Amino acid sequence: MEKQKSVLIIFTGGTISMVQDSQTGALKPADLSKFHEFMPELFNSDVKVELLPFDPLIDSSDMNPPIWSKLANIIYDNYNSYDGFVVTHGTDTMAYTASALSFMLENLGKPVILTGSQLPVGVLRSDAKENLLTAIEIAAEQDEEGNAVVPEVCIFFEANLYRGNRCTKMNSEHFAAFKSYNYEPLAVAGVHIHYFQHLIHYCDLDKPLRLRTKIDQHVAILKLFPGISEQTVRAILNIEGLRAVVLETYGSGNAPSDLWLFEALQDAIKRGIIIVNKTQCVMGSVEMGRYETSLHLLQAGVLCGYDITTEALLTKLMYLLGENADNTDEVIRLLQINLCGEMTVE
Ligand code: ASP
Repeated sequence: MEKQKSVLIIFTGGTISMVQDSQTGALKPADLSKFHEFMPELFNSDVKVELLPFDPLIDSSDMNPPIWSKLANIIYDNYNSYDGFVVTHGTDTMAYTASALSFMLENLGKPVILTGSQLPVGVLRSDAKENLLTAIEIAAEQDEEGNAVVPEVCIFFEANLYRGNRCTKMNSEHFAAFKSYNYEPLAVAGVHIHYFQHLIHYCDLDKPLRLRTKIDQHVAILKLFPGISEQTVRAILNIEGLRAVVLETYGSGNAPSDLWLFEALQDAIKRGIIIVNKTQCVMGSVEMGRYETSLHLLQAGVLCGYDITTEALLTKLMYLLGENADNTDEVIRLLQINLCGEMTVE
């Protein structure tokens, strides 16, 4: 007889684990010991599930690097005891957590599926049930050899399974809250779940899972806008202890051609600050040197972010700076490489 699959569900919080107070109407964290009352199906399926709730459950606006690390550690410690993992999470910062976990869990050979909902689990029209049940099914899915079908950190939302480090929350209201603009979904769930194997990243199963939880938070995002002043740019680049900047540029990676901007960036780079060019467009890639307005960035020493999301670039910088504290050259080298499907380097 086939062995029953097992999935660990780590509840971090967010709307999915909230209920409406019958008296005040306000949303409050659910009592997860009574979760079976909201979702009896969870415990009657073919997959054996165990729940591990955070105490307290948090709104994902309160997520931060130490909690990413705690999550990665929980998965690492329980890695051999389960076939897959589901992380329920508020939608607001889910794409950051998914990106961070994709770097922290090196050589991941099992599914880690993040999901949540736009309506709380206890509400009749809630999307929680469908999202959670499908995420569990995906986390438990194996091929004939017993290997995970999607051994990646993913986000499942509405009908789509996305690579986690390619996602952005793009809708605060619709049930389809996420999009992976530069990479097709890894699977689509309708009557059946269709997996697109050619898009899935498979690690070398001979290599063990490695935990990489050192994080350096001395990073910043500098978003350009027409009229941005030298004072604003220099204020950010002069933050004490700053090690890296996500420079959000226009179109294919363009920026104003003012000399002061070139000088401010070049000066920061000479001081050892890493600056990466990330387009403000949600689709397409940075192509430095295509226009004169990006050539000067290249000359100043700004690096190319290709088609990476801001969420993935920010967390990749934190992770690379944390893991290679004294080796800026290595950080720069690894920034230009696709580590776990986070960007397409042509
Ligand atoms: N504010 C909530 C959170 O991100 C929204 C949600 O759960 O979707 O935790």
